[in-house]
Amino acid sequence: MQKNKKLLLLPGDGIGKEVMNEVRRVVDWFAKRRAVAFDIEEDLVGGASYEAHGTPVTDAVVEKALNADAVLFGAVGGPQWETLPFADRPERGLLRLRKELDLFANLRPAVVFDAMVESSTLKPEIVRGLDIMIIRELTGGIYFGEPRGIEELPDGTRRGINTEVYTTPEIERVGRVAFVLAGKRKDGHVHSVEKANVMESGVLWREEIQALHDSDFQDIRLEHMYADNAAMQLVRNPHQFDVIITGNLFGDILSDIAAMLTGSLGMLPSASLGAKDPVTGMRRALYEPVHGSAPDIAGQGKANPIAMLLSYAMMLRYSFDLPEDADLIEKAVSEVLAGGLRTLDVMQKGMARVSTGVMGEAIIRELDKLSA
Ligand code: NAD
Repeated sequence: MQKNKKLLLLPGDGIGKEVMNEVRRVVDWFAKRRAVAFDIEEDLVGGASYEAHGTPVTDAVVEKALNADAVLFGAVGGPQWETLPFADRPERGLLRLRKELDLFANLRPAVVFDAMVESSTLKPEIVRGLDIMIIRELTGGIYFGEPRGIEELPDGTRRGINTEVYTTPEIERVGRVAFVLAGKRKDGHVHSVEKANVMESGVLWREEIQALHDSDFQDIRLEHMYADNAAMQLVRNPHQFDVIITGNLFGDILSDIAAMLTGSLGMLPSASLGAKDPVTGMRRALYEPVHGSAPDIAGQGKANPIAMLLSYAMMLRYSFDLPEDADLIEKAVSEVLAGGLRTLDVMQKGMARVSTGVMGEAIIRELDKLSA
């Protein structure tokens, strides 16, 4: 008999725990109704780990994450830990996991559900039906490049320095993720984004992406675009994009712009992918909502669980190659929204406001209906 895949759940702090509860219900539903079963372990991260162990992530949890087939992460942080030394802060737990798993590709979909078209600050005709995937290189570029620092100059003024650095292997491995993913999408095509007009690292980025395309992915349409133009085009005519591949700095900015096309933080999932495990051949992967631990609403049943549930759907799609099961969750979410249920963060006039648990329950009922 084939062994079950291993999932590690790290709910974290604040609403992370609440939205992870809803994931557990969906995991149970899939185990019972679709025979998609996982061996599940759950552990502490962030402030919760600091309280129990004096560190935001223990070596044992890092080890478990390295041995899991996928990690589902809730959110970390809260005001009670903001005065801790930098190394003990909850966010360090997530950063250490990203580093140890070498998660170099960050996937942020921007999908507009029909029922949510009015939530965007852009006109409905600009965002209706939008389905973009932004892939951001996560472990290189200007956030990590050396030299860096702030230095005193002889005249008493100071100079701040950061360095944008990319190498061929760094560009090639994240570019490959983008082309493979585009190949699995309907009419998938790729925009590669940099500033080759003013940056040598951008020239290299463009040349390496083009070379990878020409050697291995000729059947996928590739266009190059400067980052400033891409920012403008994302709000002018976002439908021209399908998959966007870009470096760390531009990805940081463009993925937030794309996120806002969709209207709400509580609806946005993400995935971070790493290198393939030499034994299983599976990519290291961590799936998490884009939002944080929302201390202002924690413990009140107000959190929107959809970003977390859509992160679970991404996990089914990208780690376990179960596109039909992922589609089922996305369809269930879409139907429940179309039926008028809303958590507080996405509440609109004429809709019914529901709690985290009722939203989770409604999505389970919709899964029942869709699979009947
Ligand atoms: P946040 O994302 O937690 O919250 C921003 C606003 O959006 C809040 O008003 C919150 O109530 C609302 N919100 C967020 N997610 C929601 C959801 N699912 N449903 C309903 N409303 C939602 O960002 P913040 O307030 O800047 O940060 C709070 C804490 O979270 C801080 O400690 C921060 O460091 C941490 N944080 C963690 C992560 C992470 O774990 N990946 C990401 C961002 C922030």
